[in-house]
Amino acid sequence: MKKVAGGYILVLEVDSPVNIQVGKRGEMPMNPGRYLYGGSAKCGIAHRINRHFFGGENLHWHIDYLTHHPQVDVVEAWCYPDYPEVEHQLAAKDDLSDDEIFRGFGNGDCGRGCQSHLWKIKGKISAADFSEDYYIVTHAQQYSNS
Ligand SMILES: [Zn+2]
Repeated sequence: MKKVAGGYILVLEVDSPVNIQVGKRGEMPMNPGRYLYGGSAKCGIAHRINRHFFGGENLHWHIDYLTHHPQVDVVEAWCYPDYPEVEHQLAAKDDLSDDEIFRGFGNGDCGRGCQSHLWKIKGKISAADFSEDYYIVTHAQQYSNS
């Protein structure tokens, strides 16, 4: 697969209340619902998305602690080739809950002043709300391609 740099949004689902230990950041309670996490990959989206679905060995980024957790399901990934800035667009969306703000989550190298790169979905929001140039990767597709 061609190495395409870009941005992506992971759709995560939590079924029941859970308290996740996120490295040095500490315990982070999450309520049931759907969550969006925004990230970018300079060396290829596909490689990074695979890591999120199947887990690397190391817990390096904040998001790794979620994707490795048995109570967090990675539903799908919205991929935006050549649009690495998409990770910063989540904070500006009205359809995301500001009841729970995961301050500082995943934005260690943000530089845009986002409160977080992880948000809970409140209203309806879809991949096309960020850009029309996207593709969606799901678990099943990843398996069938390997
Ligand atoms: Zn940001």
